[in-house]
Amino acid sequence: MPMPNVSKIKIRDLRLNDLLNHPLNKSAQVFLVGAGPGDPELLTLKAYKVIRAAEVVLYDRLVSPEILALIPDKAEKVYVGKARANHSVAQDTISQLLVDYANAGKITVRLKGGDPFIFGRGGEELELLAKNNIQFEVVPGITAASGCAAYSGIPLTHRDYSQSVRFITGHLKSGQVNLNWKELALDQQTLVFYMGLVGLDEISNQLIKFGRNASTPIAIVEKGTTPDQKVHISTLGEVNNLLASTDIHPPTLIIIGEVVCLHDKLAWK
Ligand code: SAH
Repeated sequence: MPMPNVSKIKIRDLRLNDLLNHPLNKSAQVFLVGAGPGDPELLTLKAYKVIRAAEVVLYDRLVSPEILALIPDKAEKVYVGKARANHSVAQDTISQLLVDYANAGKITVRLKGGDPFIFGRGGEELELLAKNNIQFEVVPGITAASGCAAYSGIPLTHRDYSQSVRFITGHLKSGQVNLNWKELALDQQTLVFYMGLVGLDEISNQLIKFGRNASTPIAIVEKGTTPDQKVHISTLGEVNNLLASTDIHPPTLIIIGEVVCLHDKLAWK
């Protein structure tokens, strides 16, 4: 294969300052931005730029304090966080606030933990913006699954153990965990449960009932990528004992599958 002609790449174009000074999309009125899973250095450059340019920021509970500290002093900060089953600000109200701030001509940033399109209701909020002809841009973030996997040394796929990975919510609007257990119990796949701690008892029981081996390893990653990160390792069959004997603090991400056994060798943090 011919080598690319390196001399043709303008090194100057690759400089960080140039990237940071590159102007933002002027036509966007609202930026839906993923803040990543916790470690502030996992913020993207684009997210950083958008936050620094913000006039209003509506943010969630899971956005880390170090990232909130990047919001300019003169920008308005609006907390619209929701704890599980305790929606402090209703979803419709948040969407309406975005419309109102955008119509008032403010550079409006909707800042969410992780990636806004993965269990972040980003889609729901954008639908109302689209309906109101508000221009928006979406800035992806590192989702909890990627962050927690990397920082706990658990590759989500691995040619020896797992050919696919599924991101699943353990918490449904109805309050029940109602999933296709037969499919989820198949081998050679990694399951990642967001919001799964409360339902973990049922999740593990159902997976075993539908044929997944009780010795399948499971990791509960607590406060992933933050200085308080903890990784609890167990198996489907024994996780109930772990839950009964250990204090586990949210947010937590649950990884189930043979890849979890790599944590022993690959944990670096
Ligand atoms: N949009 C987010 C997910 C929002 S749902 C994302 O892409 O990451 C909230 C759930 O994400 C939490 O209940 C938890 O399961 C998971 N989560 C988010 N941040 C986490 C973290 N730092 N460590 C562990 N789990 C996390």
